[in-house]
Amino acid sequence: MKFIDLPAQQQRIREKIESRIRTVLDHGQYVSGPEIETLEAELAAYAGTKYAIACSSGTDALLLALMAHGIGPGDAVITTPFTFVATAGPIALLGAVPVFADIDPLTFNIDPSRVEAVVESFFTDGAGGRAADGNIRGRGLKLRGIIGVDLFGLPADYSRICAIARKYGLFVIEDAAQSFGARYLDKRAGALAEIGCTSFFPAKPLGAYGDGGMCFTDDEALAEKIRSIRIHGQGSDKYENVRIGINGRLDTLQAAVLLAKMEIFPEELELREEKAQRYRTLLGGTDSPVTCPRIPDGYASAWAQYSVLAREGIGRSDLLAKLKAADIPTAVYYPKPLHLQGAFAGLGYRPGDFPVSEDCAARIFSLPMNPYLTGEDQEKIASILKRP
Ligand SMILES: *Cc1c(COP(=O)(O)O)cnc(C)c1O
Repeated sequence: MKFIDLPAQQQRIREKIESRIRTVLDHGQYVSGPEIETLEAELAAYAGTKYAIACSSGTDALLLALMAHGIGPGDAVITTPFTFVATAGPIALLGAVPVFADIDPLTFNIDPSRVEAVVESFFTDGAGGRAADGNIRGRGLKLRGIIGVDLFGLPADYSRICAIARKYGLFVIEDAAQSFGARYLDKRAGALAEIGCTSFFPAKPLGAYGDGGMCFTDDEALAEKIRSIRIHGQGSDKYENVRIGINGRLDTLQAAVLLAKMEIFPEELELREEKAQRYRTLLGGTDSPVTCPRIPDGYASAWAQYSVLAREGIGRSDLLAKLKAADIPTAVYYPKPLHLQGAFAGLGYRPGDFPVSEDCAARIFSLPMNPYLTGEDQEKIASILKRP
C-alpha cells in the first residue's frame, strides 16, 4: 500500500507525459518555453483568476507574493503555527516577523477570531486606545498582512479573514500549497485571497516531477510585480532591472509534466473525495479510536492528506505502531508547531502559547490518501485501527 501512489498515476498517463517531454526536448526551450504560458493560462482558467505566474516552488511563490507587497524589516505578518515551515520561512527570510495565531480544532486552519485578537493587539495601546500607525508598542513592528493556510487541502475561512484585513488595511495571501483544486462556494483555492500561492512538489494534489509553484491573482499590478521579481526584477527589457528580484522560474519540463497531469486532475479530485467519504463511513462512528476531519458547509477539500486525531485517552503511538506492524504507511503532519521550532526561537514563544495547535500536534496523524487507494485497503486500515 502506498501513502501517495505516484507510480499508479504514472502508469495511467505515462504516454502523455513522455510525449509532452519529447516536445520540450525537440524545441529545446528549457527555460521559459511555450509550455509555461500554456500552463499559466490553463491553471488561471481553472482557479478562476485573471493571472497565474508559474515559479520554482511553493516556497518561492510565497516569497514572491511577500516581495510584491514590499515586505521587509520592521514588518509583521500573521499566520498559523500549525503548518509546514515554508509558510513562515519566507516572512523571516525577508527580515520581517511572523506573528502566530492559533487554529480552529475542527478544521486545523487559522481561527479568524484569534486572528482578530492578534490584529487588535497591534492597534491597541495599553490604555485601550488605538495607535493609528499600526505599531506594536515597544516592538516597533508594523502589521502588514495575513497568510492563511489551506491545511491538508481544506481552504481557511477567507470570508472572515479578508473582512478583518479590509477593516485594518492588511493584505491577505492564501497558502494554497496543499489545496489546489479545493473549493469554497463558487470559488477555487488559489482565488480566495488577493494572492494565492500553490506548490507542485510531487506529493501535492497536483504534483510535478520536481519542484514548482504558482501565484494566482486578479490584481494586474501585483501580477506584474510578481512576474518581474520572478526574473531578477526585470523591467520592460531583459537587461533593465527595476527592482531586486530572484531567479524563481518554473522549468519548461515541469510545465510539460503538469499539463499531462492536468488532463486527469479533475477526475483525481473526485476519486480523492470518494476515498475521504469512505474513510468517514469506516472511521466516523463512536467505536472509532480516531476523530475524522470535518469539512464545513460550502467547502470542498482537495484532500492532500487525510489527517485524523487520536481520541482523548488513546495513544497515537499505539495506533501508529499497529498500522506499522501491518505495513501501512502513515505520517505525522505536524509533530511540532512552528512557535516551538528552533528556527523561530528568537520570536520568544513558549509551550502553552497556542494550546489548540499543540494539542493537535500531539494527537494528529495522516492515513494513506491518493486517488488510487482501494476500498479493500481502506477497510484493512479501519479494521486494524479499531482492533483492540
Ligand atoms: C509544501 C508546502 C509549501 C512549500 O511548497 P514547496 O513547493 O515545497 O516549496 C508551503 N506551504 C505549505 C502549507 C506546504 O504544504
